[in-house]
Amino acid sequence: MGREKVVIIGSGPAGWSAAIYAARAELSPLVFEGAITEENRVAGTLPLGQLNLTTEVENYAGFPAGDLTGYLDSAIDPDVRQIMAPHSKHGISGPELMELMRQQAKNFGTRVVTDDIVEVDFKQHPFRLTASSGEVTETETVIVATGARANYLGLPSEEAYKNRGVSACAVCDGALPRFRNKPLVVVGGGDSAVEESTYLTKFASKVYLVHRRDQLRASKIMAERAQSNDKIDIVWNHVLSEVTGTDNDGVTGVVLKSTVNDEPKEVEATGVFLAIGHTPNTAFLKGQLELTDKQYIVLTTPFRTNTSVPGVFAAGDVADDYYRQAITSAGAGCMAALDAERWIAAHE
Ligand code: NAP
Repeated sequence: MGREKVVIIGSGPAGWSAAIYAARAELSPLVFEGAITEENRVAGTLPLGQLNLTTEVENYAGFPAGDLTGYLDSAIDPDVRQIMAPHSKHGISGPELMELMRQQAKNFGTRVVTDDIVEVDFKQHPFRLTASSGEVTETETVIVATGARANYLGLPSEEAYKNRGVSACAVCDGALPRFRNKPLVVVGGGDSAVEESTYLTKFASKVYLVHRRDQLRASKIMAERAQSNDKIDIVWNHVLSEVTGTDNDGVTGVVLKSTVNDEPKEVEATGVFLAIGHTPNTAFLKGQLELTDKQYIVLTTPFRTNTSVPGVFAAGDVADDYYRQAITSAGAGCMAALDAERWIAAHE
């Protein structure tokens, strides 16, 4: 078994930025980008991360108006491409940004394995990483960049109708026939809920945005967009208490519970989209790194990507429940690669 210098686990903006920097430092990084499985699809943990499940990325510096259509048409899966708005003369979409980052990392010699790391052993050095295929990789340093995934409420009825009307990804599922010209429900009050509601108005007859308070958490500009959209009805002060449906039809509606009085509300809908925050993808670490009480990786040194284990670094949403932006993740990925490079130099 050859020993790697840097293994990067994860394939969002943090992972690819780390790979670009590590490859250019001639560390020949190996990226485990995640496995393409139904389990990962349902959990929202497929390769290329959360940005691959989003639409326009309006706040990633460096992408003003410009026409990249020709190249992107050839790089992106036509099935994914066709559900996105035709892309020209305006910024960049999440899937486009991720494909470009991946390609950029590969151009500098990054090797990519399409599999999950399911177990790590950081108690011995070189570190040992086990993939879901059973293959074990030994490495001098590790950069964990596995991101975070969408949360569900945990209702039995929500679980029962997953993939039959319940989803946590409007961009993945919104164009399905069952959601077209039908009323849909989105739960949440943050940027994701607003973005997903706005996106779903392309297909739905009506979108009910259900929020547990009387004020959106979303940024002002996004909130205004939702509030001025005729197809979006905001249902204030309510939570989802049950998804209703039938074996034949899947989801047919929801029961909502008021947070201010005892009156339940029923809404007909063929789809329910959860947009209620995220959980970091750290389960595979199984106690090998120090985590916060919310299971995010603890960074032990201010302004560095060091974790509780020397030689293991973390970048992006897996260690950040505060900024959670593509551009901060990409920056952290760059920092992690530089930290790994210096760590290797100091220990060789
Ligand atoms: P978020 O900001 O944490 O918002 C989660 C929302 O879900 C909150 O409104 C919260 O309600 C609600 N919620 C949480 N648990 C709930 C429960 N059990 N029942 C009912 N409602 C529940 O998460 P996010 O919207 O996914 O955004 C995450 C980060 O990504 C943010 O920093 C955001 O700015 C960023 N983001 C940016 C963009 C963009 O710029 N285009 C798009 C998407 C996300 P409360 O408000 O009452 O807490």
